[in-house]
Amino acid sequence: MTAQTDPAQHDPAPAVANLETIVSLAKRRGFVFPSSEIYGGINAVWDYGPLGVELKNNVKRAWWRAMVQERDDIVGLDAGILMHPQVWVTSGHVESFTDPLVECRTDNRRFRLDELPGTERLSQTDLRDPRIVERLRLRCPVDGGELSPPRRFNLMFRTFMGPVEEDASVVYLRPETAQGAYVNFRNVQQSTRKKLPFGIAQVGKAFRNEITPGNFVFRTREFEQMEMQYFVRPERAAELFEEWLPRRHAWYLSYGVTPERLRYREHAPDELAHYARKAVDVEYRFPFGWKELEGVHNRGDWDLGRHAEASGENLSYFDPATNESFIPFIVETAAGADRAAFTFLIDAYREEVVRGEKRVSLALHPDLAPYKVAVLPLLKKRPEIVELCQKIVADLRTDMMAVYDDTASIGKLYRRQDEIGTPWCVTVDVDSLEDGALTIRQRDSMEQQRVPVEGVKRLFVDRLAAARSGI
Ligand code: ATP
Repeated sequence: MTAQTDPAQHDPAPAVANLETIVSLAKRRGFVFPSSEIYGGINAVWDYGPLGVELKNNVKRAWWRAMVQERDDIVGLDAGILMHPQVWVTSGHVESFTDPLVECRTDNRRFRLDELPGTERLSQTDLRDPRIVERLRLRCPVDGGELSPPRRFNLMFRTFMGPVEEDASVVYLRPETAQGAYVNFRNVQQSTRKKLPFGIAQVGKAFRNEITPGNFVFRTREFEQMEMQYFVRPERAAELFEEWLPRRHAWYLSYGVTPERLRYREHAPDELAHYARKAVDVEYRFPFGWKELEGVHNRGDWDLGRHAEASGENLSYFDPATNESFIPFIVETAAGADRAAFTFLIDAYREEVVRGEKRVSLALHPDLAPYKVAVLPLLKKRPEIVELCQKIVADLRTDMMAVYDDTASIGKLYRRQDEIGTPWCVTVDVDSLEDGALTIRQRDSMEQQRVPVEGVKRLFVDRLAAARSGI
């Protein structure tokens, strides 16, 4: 581990003091909208607007590139959201995928016990104590009312498969993508002939009926995960765990997250999930505190062992080199696409004063930026200028997201692109018609450079590749 968990470690300032700054930018510029807003919204679900969907897709693509495309030892999977209900019994989710819930006796509001003020330093053993509310004299944080003793609340959404709503047709919306990789372990291994260690990567929706969702898209009830299960020989699990952890930490750094706002936090023994032998979170300093961004887990042989036992299928791996058959251990890297996109958005936020005016910009890595290039006419009244702009934008669009805008003065257009993180603006002016050149303005330095129109696409393709190199 390079960045250790040290309680005495200084607490860096968050990238924005107030989350509201990001929430309002996200809504105003079309990154994220409240779901079903015209009906008053639905708690803990958010919709990604035109820019948000680009950002999140770019995050997922960047993850896929690092985890699948550039690796020989990891392959992809897209398993169904609905799975055989026995999967969730075997995995332990039906029994133990729970959070402690307390209810206010006066206004019936429900809270997750470990998120109540006054419980910050409690161990998991404390949180399981049925007398904890009494012992700590915990009260409802809203109206000060008396709270019920905690009960375990299962976070899985249940629904029915087929036309009959009866117990036998209950299925669950998956609360994690990981199980799809475990039940397909043999299919993937046999079809790809991969040898240990090898991984299965998956990006997809997961659903959790969180008791206290919130902090914008940080904790929602419907979200996307980016998970990778690395199947290894048991004796190598500890060593490979220590390789994956800094690699995942480095991924956030390579996309520009401020190093001081990332740290590791190891789970205490009584905090470990039912499947985990070791778990370390990569945490980010959000405006609302240090919180998990991604978890790296040594799951041992829990998953394949349990599924082999419950299904009666042989899920062991035969190693031709040693002539041994055994159940592989799993090292899992479990990240959230929404949480990662949210982190990149927050961490990229900049405010500065330029020539007496506030300039807001998002210093997003070019690979993550929703639009790579904005093409802007200096004079929209000159049809030849507009025509040249349209030609350039059409050419760029075959390779990258590019946009044309002429709805304001050039200064305003630059500011608008800064605020959504577009790394480069291209301006076509009267001289362009004569000299066949245009101006490129860089988002962060605001530097301008005159380059020939001819070959401008190649220039941006190369700049994007350069920004990506070394990642
Ligand atoms: P937490 O402690 O925050 O509830 P967890 O430890 O249960 O999270 P995991 O089961 O390890 O989370 O899930 C892996 C990743 O999925 C998390 O690191 C996070 O990025 C994402 N994730 C989990 N729950 C949510 C949620 N309700 N909303 C958005 N993202 C989530």
